[in-house]
Amino acid sequence: VGTPRAGKGGQIVFLTGAFKIARIFGIDIEIDYSWLIIFSLVTWTLSTGFYPINFPELSLNTNIILGTVTSIVFFASVIFHELAHSLVAKINGLEIHKITLFLFGGASQIAEEPQTAKVEFKMAAAGPLSSLFLAVLFWVVSSSFANLLPIYRLPLLFLAEINLILAIFNLVPGFPMDGGRILRSIIWHITKDFYKSTRIAAAGGKIVAFGLIAWGASRIILVGDISGTWMILIGFFLNQAASSSLQQLKIKQVLQKIEVKELMENPISIPSGSPISEGIRDYVTKFKTDNFPVTKNNQVIGIVDLNDAKSVPEDKWDETTIDKIMKPIDSSYVVSEEDKALKALSIMDAKHISKVPVINKLNKFVGLITDQGLDYYLTLELKP
Ligand SMILES: [Zn+2]
Repeated sequence: VGTPRAGKGGQIVFLTGAFKIARIFGIDIEIDYSWLIIFSLVTWTLSTGFYPINFPELSLNTNIILGTVTSIVFFASVIFHELAHSLVAKINGLEIHKITLFLFGGASQIAEEPQTAKVEFKMAAAGPLSSLFLAVLFWVVSSSFANLLPIYRLPLLFLAEINLILAIFNLVPGFPMDGGRILRSIIWHITKDFYKSTRIAAAGGKIVAFGLIAWGASRIILVGDISGTWMILIGFFLNQAASSSLQQLKIKQVLQKIEVKELMENPISIPSGSPISEGIRDYVTKFKTDNFPVTKNNQVIGIVDLNDAKSVPEDKWDETTIDKIMKPIDSSYVVSEEDKALKALSIMDAKHISKVPVINKLNKFVGLITDQGLDYYLTLELKP
C-alpha cells in the first residue's frame, strides 16, 4: 500500500495520457485525452443548442462551424489564463513543467511551491485577471462595431460572458483553485505560517467542493436538470485535489522532521567492474529489485538499472561490465546522513529514481533511502 507522495509540488497526474500541441514562451502546452470529452460536450451544446436557438434561419452546418470555432476560442482562452499563471511563476524563478488541458479545464504544472506569500498572490491573481481582460476585450470588440452582424456579435458576447464566469468561478476561495491560493497567500502573509494557511485554504476547498456537490444534486433532484452532474463531478475533483494538497503538505512536514540516518537502509551496491551476468545472478535475484548504486573504493559513482541489460546481447553479459549500462551520477543524486529525509524525496521526484544513496562526511557510501522505506514510514506516521 503506497502513500500518495509529494509529486513535484502538487502536479496533477491525470487519467490517460496526453499529447503536446504547442510550445509558447518555452512552456509546453499539452492536451490530456480526457479533454476531448469536455471539448466535444461544449462544441455539441453550442452547435445543436445555443446557436440553432438564436439563429434558426442558419443551416445546421453553419451552426456546427460557429459552435466549433467558438469552442476552440473558448479553450484558447483557458490556455491564455494558464499562461498568465505560468508566466508570472516563471518571472519569479519557478520552474514550469507544462500546461495541461484536461476534463475540468486547464492546469499549470509548476514544479515547486512559491517561496513567498507575495509571489503566490501574484501567481494566483494573474489567472482571473487574464480572464477578466479577455471578457472586456471580447465585449469591447462586439460592441464597438455598431453594424456587426449578429452572427459575429453573438459569439463575441458569449466569449465575453464565459470568460467573465471563468474569472469569477476561479476566485471562489477554495484551495487549490485560484481564489483558494489567494486566500492562502493572504493568511500566509499575516500569520507567516505556510502550513497553517494551507490547512485553512484546503478546508475552504472542501467546503466549496461539498457545496458544489450539494448544489448539483439538488439541481438534478428538484429541477431534473442533468447538467447538475457536471457540478457534482467538479465537486469530487476539487475535494480530491484539496485532500491531496493537504496530504502532500503533511508528508513534507513529517519528512522535514527526521534525518536521513534514521531512515536509511543497508548500503547494498554492486562493485564497479562486475559483469552484468553477476549483477543479475547475485543481486537482482537475491534482493528482488533491479536498481542498485555502483561503487568504487566505497564511493558511489553511478546507478544501474539492470533492466537496461536488455540493450546488451545476452551472450555478452559475462564479458560486459555493469559500468557500460550504468548512469554516472554527481552529488545532486546523493544525500548525507544529516540531511532531512525530505531532501531524499525531492531527489527521487526530480531524478525519477527509487533509491537515493547516502554518504557520510568522508564521502563514503553508508546507506540507502528507498521509496518503499519512505512509504512504509509515512504510512505509519500519517495513520489517522
Ligand atoms: Zn487559474
